[in-house]
Amino acid sequence: MIIGAVPFAPGVSPPLVVEPSPAADSPITGDSRPYDLLIKGGKVIDPSQGLEAELDVAVRGGKIASVAPAIPEGQAEQIIRAQGKIVTPGLIDIHTHVFPYVGPYGIEPDPYCVRRGVTSVIDAGTSGAFTFPAFRRFIIERAATRVRALLHVVSIGMVAGGTPDMGELEDLRYCVPKLAVETANQNRDLIVGFKIRFSEHYTGPNDLEGMRRGRAAADEAGLPIMIHIGGSYTPLKEFLALMKKGDVVTHSFNNHPHGLLDSSGKLTPAVVEARGRGVLFDVGHGAGSFSFEVMEKCLGQGFSPDTISSDLYSANINGPVYDQLTTLSKFLVLGMSLTDVIARTTVNASRVFNFGAEIGTLKPGAEADVSVLELKEGEFTFTDSEGKTRTSRQKLEAVTTVKGGKVFEPTA
Ligand SMILES: [Zn+2]
Repeated sequence: MIIGAVPFAPGVSPPLVVEPSPAADSPITGDSRPYDLLIKGGKVIDPSQGLEAELDVAVRGGKIASVAPAIPEGQAEQIIRAQGKIVTPGLIDIHTHVFPYVGPYGIEPDPYCVRRGVTSVIDAGTSGAFTFPAFRRFIIERAATRVRALLHVVSIGMVAGGTPDMGELEDLRYCVPKLAVETANQNRDLIVGFKIRFSEHYTGPNDLEGMRRGRAAADEAGLPIMIHIGGSYTPLKEFLALMKKGDVVTHSFNNHPHGLLDSSGKLTPAVVEARGRGVLFDVGHGAGSFSFEVMEKCLGQGFSPDTISSDLYSANINGPVYDQLTTLSKFLVLGMSLTDVIARTTVNASRVFNFGAEIGTLKPGAEADVSVLELKEGEFTFTDSEGKTRTSRQKLEAVTTVKGGKVFEPTA
Protein backbone atom coordinates (compact mmCIF):
# COMPACT_ATOMS: atom_id res chain seq x y z
CA MET A 1 0.00 0.00 0.00
CA ILE A 2 1.35 3.40 -0.93
CA ILE A 3 0.36 6.31 1.23
CA GLY A 4 -1.78 9.03 -0.19
CA ALA A 5 -2.84 11.08 2.81
CA VAL A 6 -0.02 13.57 2.50
CA PRO A 7 0.43 14.46 -1.15
CA PHE A 8 3.95 15.61 -1.54
CA ALA A 9 6.35 14.79 -4.33
CA PRO A 10 9.84 16.16 -3.82
CA GLY A 11 10.41 16.05 -7.56
CA VAL A 12 13.48 17.74 -8.92
CA SER A 13 14.90 20.20 -6.50
CA PRO A 14 18.22 22.01 -6.20
CA PRO A 15 20.71 20.28 -3.90
CA LEU A 16 20.44 21.43 -0.33
CA VAL A 17 23.26 23.66 0.78
CA VAL A 18 24.15 25.43 3.95
CA GLU A 19 25.61 28.77 3.11
CA PRO A 20 26.03 32.27 4.45
CA SER A 21 23.16 34.58 3.70
CA PRO A 22 23.60 36.15 0.22
CA ALA A 23 23.10 39.56 1.76
CA ALA A 24 26.22 39.18 3.87
CA ASP A 25 28.02 41.93 1.93
CA SER A 26 25.17 44.35 2.26
CA PRO A 27 25.25 47.25 4.72
CA ILE A 28 23.22 45.17 7.16
CA THR A 29 25.59 44.19 9.94
CA GLY A 30 25.58 40.84 11.69
CA ASP A 31 24.24 42.49 14.79
CA SER A 32 21.15 43.66 13.00
CA ARG A 33 20.19 40.25 11.63
CA PRO A 34 17.50 38.90 13.90
CA TYR A 35 18.18 35.22 13.17
CA ASP A 36 21.22 32.93 13.35
CA LEU A 37 19.82 30.38 10.95
CA LEU A 38 16.98 30.20 8.45
CA ILE A 39 15.65 26.94 7.00
CA LYS A 40 14.09 28.12 3.81
CA GLY A 41 11.34 26.79 1.58
CA GLY A 42 10.76 23.29 2.94
CA LYS A 43 7.47 21.60 3.59
CA VAL A 44 7.05 21.89 7.36
CA ILE A 45 5.27 18.98 9.03
CA ASP A 46 4.81 19.63 12.73
CA PRO A 47 1.98 17.50 14.16
CA SER A 48 2.31 19.25 17.55
CA GLN A 49 0.77 22.34 15.96
CA GLY A 50 -1.14 20.72 13.10
CA LEU A 51 1.24 22.46 10.72
CA GLU A 52 1.67 21.17 7.19
CA ALA A 53 2.69 23.85 4.74
CA GLU A 54 5.60 25.42 2.91
CA LEU A 55 7.13 27.59 5.62
CA ASP A 56 10.47 28.96 6.73
CA VAL A 57 11.92 28.16 10.13
CA ALA A 58 14.06 30.79 11.82
CA VAL A 59 16.40 30.05 14.72
CA ARG A 60 17.97 32.37 17.25
CA GLY A 61 20.07 31.56 20.31
CA GLY A 62 19.50 27.83 19.99
CA LYS A 63 15.71 28.19 20.06
CA ILE A 64 13.01 28.30 17.41
CA ALA A 65 12.32 31.99 16.79
CA SER A 66 9.69 31.94 14.06
CA VAL A 67 7.87 29.63 11.66
CA ALA A 68 6.32 31.70 8.91
CA PRO A 69 6.07 32.04 5.13
CA ALA A 70 8.72 33.96 3.19
CA ILE A 71 11.08 35.14 5.92
CA PRO A 72 13.65 37.31 4.08
CA GLU A 73 17.06 35.68 3.66
CA GLY A 74 18.82 38.86 4.67
CA GLN A 75 17.51 38.42 8.19
CA ALA A 76 19.69 35.38 8.93
CA GLU A 77 23.41 34.70 9.24
CA GLN A 78 23.16 31.23 7.74
CA ILE A 79 20.68 29.71 5.30
CA ILE A 80 19.68 26.08 4.80
CA ARG A 81 17.87 25.68 1.48
CA ALA A 82 15.18 23.07 1.93
CA GLN A 83 13.07 23.42 -1.22
CA GLY A 84 11.54 20.04 -2.05
CA LYS A 85 12.47 18.69 1.38
CA ILE A 86 10.46 17.93 4.50
CA VAL A 87 11.17 19.92 7.65
CA THR A 88 10.11 18.42 10.96
CA PRO A 89 10.84 18.88 14.64
CA GLY A 90 14.08 17.04 15.49
CA LEU A 91 13.20 13.36 15.55
CA ILE A 92 13.05 11.47 18.85
CA ASP A 93 13.83 7.75 19.16
CA ILE A 94 12.70 6.37 22.52
CA HIS A 95 14.43 2.99 22.26
CA THR A 96 18.14 2.87 21.43
CA HIS A 97 21.34 1.46 22.94
CA VAL A 98 24.01 4.14 22.86
CA PHE A 99 26.31 3.07 25.70
CA PRO A 100 29.23 1.48 23.82
CA TYR A 101 32.36 -0.32 25.13
CA VAL A 102 30.68 -1.69 28.27
CA GLY A 103 29.00 -4.83 26.96
CA PRO A 104 28.30 -5.73 23.34
CA TYR A 105 25.13 -3.76 22.57
CA GLY A 106 25.94 -0.08 22.57
CA ILE A 107 26.82 2.10 19.60
CA GLU A 108 28.22 5.63 19.50
CA PRO A 109 25.18 7.93 19.45
CA ASP A 110 26.19 10.75 17.13
CA PRO A 111 26.93 8.94 13.84
CA TYR A 112 23.63 7.05 14.01
CA CYS A 113 21.44 9.70 15.62
CA VAL A 114 22.14 13.41 15.26
CA ARG A 115 23.76 12.81 11.87
CA ARG A 116 20.73 10.84 10.72
CA GLY A 117 17.88 13.15 11.62
CA VAL A 118 17.49 12.11 15.26
CA THR A 119 18.24 14.84 17.79
CA SER A 120 17.07 13.12 20.98
CA VAL A 121 17.20 9.49 22.08
CA ILE A 122 16.34 7.37 25.04
CA ASP A 123 18.85 4.68 25.90
CA ALA A 124 16.63 1.78 26.94
CA GLY A 125 18.37 0.09 29.83
CA THR A 126 21.88 -0.52 28.54
CA SER A 127 23.16 0.81 31.86
CA GLY A 128 22.24 -0.20 35.40
CA ALA A 129 23.15 1.31 38.74
CA PHE A 130 26.69 -0.12 38.62
CA THR A 131 27.50 1.18 35.14
CA PHE A 132 25.47 4.38 34.80
CA PRO A 133 28.26 6.66 36.13
CA ALA A 134 30.48 5.64 33.17
CA PHE A 135 27.60 6.11 30.72
CA ARG A 136 27.02 9.57 32.09
CA ARG A 137 30.61 10.74 32.13
CA PHE A 138 32.07 9.14 29.01
CA ILE A 139 29.12 9.08 26.62
CA ILE A 140 26.10 11.22 27.51
CA GLU A 141 28.00 14.32 28.59
CA ARG A 142 30.15 14.20 25.44
CA ALA A 143 27.44 13.45 22.88
CA ALA A 144 25.95 16.06 20.57
CA THR A 145 22.79 13.95 20.46
CA ARG A 146 20.50 14.62 23.44
CA VAL A 147 20.68 11.32 25.34
CA ARG A 148 18.42 10.45 28.25
CA ALA A 149 18.43 7.07 29.96
CA LEU A 150 16.06 4.47 31.22
CA LEU A 151 18.04 2.82 33.98
CA HIS A 152 17.90 -0.96 33.96
CA VAL A 153 16.25 -2.16 37.15
CA VAL A 154 19.02 -4.79 37.24
CA SER A 155 22.19 -3.12 38.51
CA ILE A 156 24.51 -4.71 35.92
CA GLY A 157 22.37 -3.41 33.06
CA MET A 158 22.94 -5.24 29.79
CA VAL A 159 26.68 -5.92 30.10
CA ALA A 160 26.21 -9.55 29.04
CA GLY A 161 24.11 -8.60 26.02
CA GLY A 162 22.45 -11.75 24.73
CA THR A 163 25.11 -14.19 25.98
CA PRO A 164 23.37 -17.54 26.63
CA ASP A 165 22.80 -18.38 30.29
CA MET A 166 24.10 -14.98 31.43
CA GLY A 167 20.86 -13.01 31.23
CA GLU A 168 20.72 -10.12 33.66
CA LEU A 169 17.58 -11.38 35.43
CA GLU A 170 18.73 -14.96 35.87
CA ASP A 171 20.25 -13.98 39.21
CA LEU A 172 17.80 -11.87 41.20
CA ARG A 173 20.53 -10.70 43.57
CA TYR A 174 21.40 -8.05 40.97
CA CYS A 175 17.83 -6.77 40.85
CA VAL A 176 17.66 -4.37 43.78
CA PRO A 177 15.01 -1.62 43.53
CA LYS A 178 16.76 0.46 46.21
CA LEU A 179 19.97 0.67 44.14
CA ALA A 180 18.04 1.64 41.01
CA VAL A 181 16.08 4.33 42.85
CA GLU A 182 19.21 5.78 44.47
CA THR A 183 20.97 6.05 41.11
CA ALA A 184 17.90 7.57 39.48
CA ASN A 185 17.55 10.13 42.26
CA GLN A 186 21.22 11.09 41.98
CA ASN A 187 20.83 11.63 38.21
CA ARG A 188 17.34 13.02 37.76
CA ASP A 189 18.57 15.28 34.95
CA LEU A 190 19.38 12.28 32.77
CA ILE A 191 17.51 9.24 34.10
CA VAL A 192 13.87 9.54 33.03
CA GLY A 193 12.56 6.08 33.85
CA PHE A 194 13.38 2.41 34.25
CA LYS A 195 13.71 -0.53 31.87
CA ILE A 196 13.48 -4.26 32.31
CA ARG A 197 13.64 -7.15 29.82
CA PHE A 198 11.34 -10.14 29.81
CA SER A 199 12.48 -12.84 27.42
CA GLU A 200 12.94 -16.27 28.91
CA HIS A 201 16.61 -16.50 27.88
CA TYR A 202 17.39 -13.33 29.90
CA THR A 203 15.28 -14.20 32.91
CA GLY A 204 14.66 -17.89 33.41
CA PRO A 205 11.59 -18.11 35.65
CA ASN A 206 12.34 -14.77 37.39
CA ASP A 207 10.47 -12.39 35.09
CA LEU A 208 7.37 -11.76 37.19
CA GLU A 209 9.45 -11.14 40.31
CA GLY A 210 11.57 -8.75 38.20
CA MET A 211 8.36 -6.93 37.21
CA ARG A 212 7.33 -6.61 40.85
CA ARG A 213 10.73 -5.14 41.73
CA GLY A 214 10.60 -2.83 38.72
CA ARG A 215 7.14 -1.68 39.78
CA ALA A 216 8.47 -0.96 43.27
CA ALA A 217 11.38 1.09 41.88
CA ALA A 218 9.17 3.04 39.50
CA ASP A 219 6.64 3.82 42.22
CA GLU A 220 9.27 4.92 44.71
CA ALA A 221 11.05 7.17 42.19
CA GLY A 222 7.82 8.40 40.61
CA LEU A 223 9.11 7.51 37.14
CA PRO A 224 7.67 5.38 34.30
CA ILE A 225 8.92 1.91 33.44
CA MET A 226 9.43 0.41 29.98
CA ILE A 227 9.14 -3.34 29.62
CA HIS A 228 10.67 -5.44 26.83
CA ILE A 229 8.30 -8.22 25.78
CA GLY A 230 8.51 -11.23 23.47
CA GLY A 231 9.15 -14.85 24.39
CA SER A 232 8.65 -14.31 28.11
CA TYR A 233 8.36 -17.16 30.63
CA THR A 234 5.22 -15.58 32.11
CA PRO A 235 2.20 -14.53 30.00
CA LEU A 236 2.06 -10.86 29.01
CA LYS A 237 -1.20 -10.17 30.85
CA GLU A 238 0.57 -10.76 34.19
CA PHE A 239 2.98 -7.90 33.44
CA LEU A 240 0.28 -5.64 32.03
CA ALA A 241 -1.67 -6.03 35.26
CA LEU A 242 1.26 -4.36 37.04
CA MET A 243 1.65 -1.49 34.57
CA LYS A 244 0.25 1.98 35.05
CA LYS A 245 -0.68 4.98 32.90
CA GLY A 246 2.42 6.29 31.14
CA ASP A 247 4.37 3.04 31.40
CA VAL A 248 5.60 1.67 28.08
CA VAL A 249 5.55 -1.75 26.41
CA THR A 250 8.31 -2.00 23.80
CA HIS A 251 8.86 -4.64 21.08
CA SER A 252 5.06 -4.60 20.97
CA PHE A 253 4.82 -6.02 17.46
CA ASN A 254 7.19 -8.99 17.72
CA ASN A 255 6.17 -12.45 16.59
CA HIS A 256 7.33 -14.42 19.63
CA PRO A 257 5.16 -16.23 22.20
CA HIS A 258 3.25 -14.07 24.72
CA GLY A 259 2.77 -11.14 22.36
CA LEU A 260 -0.20 -8.82 21.79
CA LEU A 261 -2.19 -11.26 19.66
CA ASP A 262 -3.90 -14.53 20.52
CA SER A 263 -3.51 -17.67 18.40
CA SER A 264 -6.23 -16.47 16.02
CA GLY A 265 -4.45 -13.15 15.44
CA LYS A 266 -6.77 -11.05 17.60
CA LEU A 267 -5.60 -8.50 20.15
CA THR A 268 -5.96 -10.00 23.61
CA PRO A 269 -8.44 -8.38 26.03
CA ALA A 270 -5.57 -7.57 28.44
CA VAL A 271 -3.82 -5.49 25.75
CA VAL A 272 -6.98 -3.59 24.84
CA GLU A 273 -7.68 -2.97 28.52
CA ALA A 274 -4.11 -1.77 29.18
CA ARG A 275 -4.26 0.73 26.33
CA GLY A 276 -7.61 1.93 27.65
CA ARG A 277 -6.04 2.94 30.93
CA GLY A 278 -3.05 4.68 29.40
CA VAL A 279 -0.31 2.05 29.05
CA LEU A 280 1.69 2.99 25.94
CA PHE A 281 2.75 0.65 23.14
CA ASP A 282 6.05 1.33 21.38
CA VAL A 283 7.65 -0.36 18.36
CA GLY A 284 11.30 -1.06 19.40
CA HIS A 285 12.12 -2.75 16.08
CA GLY A 286 15.49 -4.37 16.87
CA ALA A 287 17.06 -7.39 15.27
CA GLY A 288 14.37 -9.72 16.56
CA SER A 289 11.33 -7.76 17.61
CA PHE A 290 9.35 -6.38 14.67
CA SER A 291 7.09 -8.37 12.37
CA PHE A 292 5.33 -6.79 9.40
CA GLU A 293 2.67 -9.48 9.70
CA VAL A 294 1.94 -8.77 13.38
CA MET A 295 1.98 -5.02 12.75
CA GLU A 296 -0.46 -5.41 9.86
CA LYS A 297 -2.81 -7.48 12.00
CA CYS A 298 -2.73 -4.85 14.75
CA LEU A 299 -3.25 -1.95 12.34
CA GLY A 300 -6.15 -3.90 10.82
CA GLN A 301 -7.77 -3.88 14.27
CA GLY A 302 -7.20 -0.15 14.69
CA PHE A 303 -4.26 -0.64 17.04
CA SER A 304 -1.39 1.56 15.92
CA PRO A 305 1.78 2.20 17.95
CA ASP A 306 1.88 5.24 20.24
CA THR A 307 5.54 5.73 19.32
CA ILE A 308 7.86 4.37 16.65
CA SER A 309 11.38 3.54 17.82
CA SER A 310 14.30 1.66 16.34
CA ASP A 311 15.94 -0.32 19.18
CA LEU A 312 19.17 0.52 17.42
CA TYR A 313 22.17 -1.48 18.65
CA SER A 314 25.38 -2.99 17.37
CA ALA A 315 23.82 -6.13 15.86
CA ASN A 316 21.22 -4.32 13.74
CA ILE A 317 22.85 -1.14 12.42
CA ASN A 318 23.79 -3.05 9.26
CA GLY A 319 20.25 -4.37 8.93
CA PRO A 320 17.45 -4.94 9.37
CA VAL A 321 17.13 -1.71 11.38
CA TYR A 322 19.89 0.57 10.01
CA ASP A 323 18.46 3.67 11.69
CA GLN A 324 15.30 5.43 12.80
CA LEU A 325 14.49 6.82 9.35
CA THR A 326 14.50 3.33 7.84
CA THR A 327 12.21 2.22 10.68
CA LEU A 328 9.85 5.13 9.99
CA SER A 329 9.85 4.35 6.27
CA LYS A 330 8.50 0.88 7.03
CA PHE A 331 5.33 2.47 8.40
CA LEU A 332 4.82 4.34 5.14
CA VAL A 333 4.93 0.93 3.44
CA LEU A 334 2.27 -0.27 5.89
CA GLY A 335 -0.04 2.56 4.83
CA MET A 336 0.43 5.02 7.68
CA SER A 337 0.40 8.64 6.54
CA LEU A 338 3.64 10.61 6.67
CA THR A 339 2.08 12.98 9.19
CA ASP A 340 1.06 10.10 11.47
CA VAL A 341 4.55 8.63 11.20
CA ILE A 342 6.20 11.96 12.05
CA ALA A 343 3.84 12.43 15.02
CA ARG A 344 5.01 9.11 16.49
CA THR A 345 8.65 10.20 16.48
CA THR A 346 8.14 13.85 17.47
CA VAL A 347 5.22 15.06 19.57
CA ASN A 348 4.12 11.63 20.82
CA ALA A 349 7.66 10.63 21.76
CA SER A 350 8.31 13.95 23.51
CA ARG A 351 5.39 13.31 25.86
CA VAL A 352 6.41 9.82 27.00
CA PHE A 353 9.44 10.84 29.04
CA ASN A 354 10.59 14.09 30.61
CA PHE A 355 13.49 15.23 28.42
CA GLY A 356 13.97 18.38 30.47
CA ALA A 357 13.69 20.49 27.31
CA GLU A 358 10.90 21.56 25.01
CA ILE A 359 11.32 19.22 22.06
CA GLY A 360 9.14 17.46 19.50
CA THR A 361 7.72 20.76 18.31
CA LEU A 362 8.66 23.79 16.22
CA LYS A 363 6.77 26.22 18.46
CA PRO A 364 8.67 29.46 18.98
CA GLY A 365 10.74 29.17 22.17
CA ALA A 366 11.26 25.42 21.80
CA GLU A 367 14.74 23.94 21.36
CA ALA A 368 16.01 24.58 17.83
CA ASP A 369 15.97 20.87 16.99
CA VAL A 370 14.96 20.47 13.36
CA SER A 371 15.26 17.60 10.90
CA VAL A 372 15.46 18.27 7.18
CA LEU A 373 14.45 15.06 5.42
CA GLU A 374 14.04 13.83 1.91
CA LEU A 375 11.23 11.53 0.86
CA LYS A 376 13.09 9.64 -1.87
CA GLU A 377 11.18 8.10 -4.73
CA GLY A 378 12.34 4.81 -6.22
CA GLU A 379 12.09 1.08 -5.60
CA PHE A 380 13.00 0.15 -2.04
CA THR A 381 12.89 -3.18 -0.22
CA PHE A 382 12.45 -3.20 3.55
CA THR A 383 13.10 -6.20 5.79
CA ASP A 384 11.57 -6.92 9.19
CA SER A 385 13.15 -8.87 12.06
CA GLU A 386 11.95 -12.15 10.59
CA GLY A 387 13.54 -11.66 7.20
CA LYS A 388 10.18 -10.87 5.57
CA THR A 389 10.20 -8.06 3.05
CA ARG A 390 7.92 -5.36 1.71
CA THR A 391 8.66 -3.11 -1.23
CA SER A 392 7.90 0.56 -1.45
CA ARG A 393 8.31 3.53 -3.73
CA GLN A 394 9.29 5.86 -0.90
CA LYS A 395 12.06 6.10 1.67
CA LEU A 396 12.88 8.80 4.18
CA GLU A 397 16.48 9.94 4.36
CA ALA A 398 18.28 12.53 6.44
CA VAL A 399 19.54 15.62 4.66
CA THR A 400 20.61 18.00 7.42
CA THR A 401 19.90 18.04 11.13
CA VAL A 402 19.85 21.02 13.46
CA LYS A 403 20.22 20.41 17.18
CA GLY A 404 20.08 23.38 19.55
CA GLY A 405 20.74 25.62 16.54
CA LYS A 406 23.89 23.73 15.50
CA VAL A 407 24.02 22.11 12.05
CA PHE A 408 24.98 18.45 11.55
CA GLU A 409 25.46 16.85 8.14
CA PRO A 410 25.06 13.09 7.59
CA THR A 411 28.19 10.97 7.90
CA ALA A 412 29.32 9.45 4.64
ZN1 LIG B 1 16.52 -2.69 23.24
